[in-house]
Amino acid sequence: MSDRPSNFIRDMILADNESGKHGGRVHTRFPPEPNGYLHVGHAKSITINFGLAAEFGGMCNLRFDDTNPTKEETEYVDSIIEDVKWLGGDFGGRIFYASDYFGQLFEWAKQLIRDGKAYVCDLTPEQVRQTRGTLTEPGQNSPYRDRGVAENLDLFERMKAGEFPDGSKTLRAKIDMASPNLNFRDPVMYRILHAEHHRTGNQWCIYPMYDWAHGQSDSIEGITHSICTLEFEDHRPLYDWYVQQLGIFAPRQIEFDRLNLTYTMMSKRKLLQLVQQKLVAGWDDPRMPTISGMRRRGYTPEGLRNFALNLGVSKTNGITEFEKLEFHIREDLNRTARRAMAVLRPLKLIIDNYPEGEVEWMDACNYPDNDSDLRQVPFTRELWIEREDFEEVPPKGYFRLYPGNEVRLRWGFFVKCTGVDKDELGQVTAIHCTYDPLSRGGNSPDGRKVKSTIHWVSANHALPAEVRLYDKLFTREDPNDAPEGQDFTANLNPNSLQVVQAWIEPALAAASAGDRFQFERLAYFCVDKDSTPSRPVFNRTVELRDSWGKTQKKT
Ligand code: ATP
Ligand code: MG
Repeated sequence: MSDRPSNFIRDMILADNESGKHGGRVHTRFPPEPNGYLHVGHAKSITINFGLAAEFGGMCNLRFDDTNPTKEETEYVDSIIEDVKWLGGDFGGRIFYASDYFGQLFEWAKQLIRDGKAYVCDLTPEQVRQTRGTLTEPGQNSPYRDRGVAENLDLFERMKAGEFPDGSKTLRAKIDMASPNLNFRDPVMYRILHAEHHRTGNQWCIYPMYDWAHGQSDSIEGITHSICTLEFEDHRPLYDWYVQQLGIFAPRQIEFDRLNLTYTMMSKRKLLQLVQQKLVAGWDDPRMPTISGMRRRGYTPEGLRNFALNLGVSKTNGITEFEKLEFHIREDLNRTARRAMAVLRPLKLIIDNYPEGEVEWMDACNYPDNDSDLRQVPFTRELWIEREDFEEVPPKGYFRLYPGNEVRLRWGFFVKCTGVDKDELGQVTAIHCTYDPLSRGGNSPDGRKVKSTIHWVSANHALPAEVRLYDKLFTREDPNDAPEGQDFTANLNPNSLQVVQAWIEPALAAASAGDRFQFERLAYFCVDKDSTPSRPVFNRTVELRDSWGKTQKKT
């Protein structure tokens, strides 16, 4: 599509389509390993893979790369399916598992053995590592490298039959122990692992390595463009070698840069550590960089996709500012989130000349610049306002409430501060005002101007709510940059969650989990899954960086 910025992956697809390589067919896949929940880095990969398929009228498969039985679980599979759907990934019914191909991969391995291109090796994993050589020195041939085909086939079958203990044998490709590419030095294809698999149970005790499984899985599914992250660049020759040796359909692997975000940890292993050590409330804790955490926090799929699209793709890894992500979330929420009023740190405001017991229902716009989508908010003699919207002695440039000053109550009236009540410690407990009945709706009756508009809720009508104010999970741009002898958890932000008891306007009682709002002048919020009608709970999604300036300008 012409409105999208060009990138090298799209250019490769365009060139393939031009040359007629796959008859114009574009088929991608998103291949998560089900060993954790998806995170914002995966959102980038999802956006690229599903986005390119959609753009070229092709398809994108969801494929679970489930070749490591010890770390994988059904819970992760289910969460991944949900998250990909939520992000808008359209895989139709095409959910596949590398484990579905274990039988075919086993047959193909025997084909390589018969062709003299694979052998059973009795070296231990440690010995395999030791004889691999280095970037500057060649490796050494395994003493088992020249086993005959019949012996290899027999041993391989017996490996599968469970005759040998874990780690006692491997099947290795016979390529070149002196290759400058370490991945070519007789890479392991199969290892013995007597472990139950979340799908195949105890059917297998040998499991294929990633490199042996991935290209062939792509080939089986007819994937035309196998898009992955840069760390697989050195694996591409091996990816190509396997499909060439087998003489099967050859997909093309293309690598792009991983997303790294400031203040964000994206290693699944470390995210799992946070969950297991209960340093967060679970994989979907709103502070987690997981898709489920971001969803619970109130991030939108559109916002995440726009973020990912704007990142583009590159051939070098970099670090993206977390603020960029927030920018796109805020931008989407600004368009889509309903406005409401809530007071997080309440101070009582009493309008002395407003009749006691009277209630006026004021029109309030649910969305900016739209006078036809309204709700009613109750206005009464006693209101809650934000504590910081009053100063007894105003600093220079302070235009909100102080004795003698007049402000506009959003959707309400002009009020002028006439005095304060204090407790015995001298703390302000309430402020007194008079209102101008002619300023109904917040409109100036005579052209006189006020410099501030503040939000409020009726004290008689407001509902109590728990509001969870989130901040960054880590205090350091690079969470891995921990003090000597400590791990990344030393960089956890002790103030990443602050809970306040707020007052919310009564219309919010009808909100349900996942609903998103802008609490005017405060931030964007999302109803948490812990919320109940009698005890609403809101998560702060993202702040309104420039809310104050904007509200002030409104008439
Ligand atoms: P980890 O090593 O933490 O387990 P992974 O990269 O192995 O993460 P996978 O489940 O294998 O996680 O990833 C699925 C797909 O998402 C892969 O194609 C991978 O390249 C891509 N991906 C993972 N992390 C990122 C990231 N930070 N940015 C972009 N793409 C990513
Ligand atoms: Mg992986």
